[in-house]
Amino acid sequence: MKGAAMKLSAFTSTMGLSLIVLGSLPALAASGKGDRVQLRVSVFNSSPISFATLERAENEAGRLLRDVGVEVVWLNCPEDAQHEASLGRCTEVSFPLHLHLGLLRVSRGLKASTVGISFSAEDGQGCYAYLFYEPIRQLVERTQVAPSVILGHAMAHELGHLLLGTNSHSPGGLMRAHWTPEDLANASRGNLRFSLEQSLRIRSRLTSQESQRIQAIERSAEIAGAERFK
Ligand SMILES: [Zn+2]
Repeated sequence: MKGAAMKLSAFTSTMGLSLIVLGSLPALAASGKGDRVQLRVSVFNSSPISFATLERAENEAGRLLRDVGVEVVWLNCPEDAQHEASLGRCTEVSFPLHLHLGLLRVSRGLKASTVGISFSAEDGQGCYAYLFYEPIRQLVERTQVAPSVILGHAMAHELGHLLLGTNSHSPGGLMRAHWTPEDLANASRGNLRFSLEQSLRIRSRLTSQESQRIQAIERSAEIAGAERFK
C-alpha cells in the first residue's frame, strides 16, 4: 500500500519536560470475554527483539486493548503459521478485524526517533503498521523502562491508529504523538491508556464491521440454501 492516497501516522519519542497527568479514565472493560470483539493481529518480527520480549509486549498490548473491549489473537508469523489454530491465517488481512504488525530493526528514511508508523487510506481504513527496534532500544537505555513495556505500548499505539482512523493522535495518553519520560513512567505503572472517547470509537468501528461481516455470511448462507432447493 503506497502512493499519495495513503495517510501516514508516525510517532516519535521526545525527552521533553512536559508533564501530562493522566486522569484515571474508566476502562471500558466488558463484563466477560464473550462481550469483547475479537481482533487478529499477524506479527512479523524481522528485528533483534527476542520472542520472550515480544510475547510479554503482546501481553501488554493485549491488556490495553482488552480494557477497551477488544480481545487480541496474536499470530506470531511465520512460527505460528504451522500451528493448527492459525494455519494459513498469517497472511490473511481484512480491515479492521485482521491487521498486520511488522517489527523491523530500523526505519527507512524516517526520523531516527520514530518508534512506529501506520498506513491508512483516505477513507481511514488501513491494515498495516510497523515498529522499529533501534529507537525502542534507545528509549530503554535512556529511561530504564522494560523493553516489553515500551514495545507493548507502541504496538497498542499503532494498532490504535489503524482502529481509530485518521487524525487519531490525542494531546495525552497512549495516543499522544510524542512520548515523554513521564508517559513511559506511566506506562510502566500501567497508567498509559486509551481515553474513554477512543475506547468508544474503537469499539464502535470494530462492532459495525463485525455485524456487517456476520450479515454477509448470513446472506451468502441464504443464497446457498436457496440454490439447494432449485
Ligand atoms: Zn502515533
